Amino acid sequence: MHPWRDVLLSGKSIDLITMADYENRYEDNAKGKFYVDDQCIDCDLCRETAPENFTREEDGGYSFVFKQPENDEEVALCEEAMEGCPVEAIGEDGDEQGE
Ligand code: SF4
Repeated sequence: MHPWRDVLLSGKSIDLITMADYENRYEDNAKGKFYVDDQCIDCDLCRETAPENFTREEDGGYSFVFKQPENDEEVALCEEAMEGCPVEAIGEDGDEQGE
């Protein structure tokens, strides 16, 4: 049996595999709550949803948070982008990482 089978059959494990990982975040991200990690597939959704906070790294072909949200509306749009990201590359636990 393939060893990944048991992992993939566990919903909790799938979350551990797919959720954004602060350790794998792009260094371009502005310090703070939201960030993009290296799972980004450059689909453009977050930049469309929250253009005041997400932008594209043109050479690398990925998104990153260039400015942390500064008001409730921007926070809501960042959360919407995070929930819509097809590969769960956006995290919101940056403030909890002790930096
Ligand atoms: S929505 Fe996710 S995959 Fe798409 S560009 Fe943004 S971070 Fe990357």
